Amino acid sequence: MATTSLAGCFGCHMSLLDIDEELLDVVELVDFNKSPLTDIKEFSRRCDVGIIEGGCCNSENVEVLRAFREHCDMLIGVGECAIWGGLPAMRNFIPIEECLLEAYGRTTELEDSKVVIPKHEDLPELLDRVYGCQEIVRMDYFIPGCPPDARHIWKVLKHALFGQPYALTHEEFKYD
Ligand code: SF4
Repeated sequence: MATTSLAGCFGCHMSLLDIDEELLDVVELVDFNKSPLTDIKEFSRRCDVGIIEGGCCNSENVEVLRAFREHCDMLIGVGECAIWGGLPAMRNFIPIEECLLEAYGRTTELEDSKVVIPKHEDLPELLDRVYGCQEIVRMDYFIPGCPPDARHIWKVLKHALFGQPYALTHEEFKYD
């Protein structure tokens, strides 16, 4: 299994780890490859499942998402940001220049003409808006929530990986 956080807040990864002692059983059964959980940066082999947190707000997000599609048999988007952009997509209603001025200038009370927007070839280019994952690559499944409950995530994974029956209680369907 591999995981990544694109334009997300890591809340979905935190939820992934929130199954507490059951995580020990999972580690027995699942081998984590590229993931912030292992700090493995590149795929070293093909994976059964790729877990995607967050949507795409810059060119690096798109590159990483395409690499996951290429290296994973099944892609599962976890959380609202992966589904439709989530909180970062609030910027979709504001011109990008306005967002940059707000982030780099107005909070320091500089005049707009004196604001320096960082630009460097090593910095990923911002996209015109924030995209849900399905708008960039084909996704197989999504798990709704912000973040989804840990039990919900692992029930989906155990169903996908081991064919265990899948049923969800009302309290396991969660938005904070
Ligand atoms: Fe964070 Fe919610 Fe987005 Fe998950 S869905 S990355 S918890 S904002």
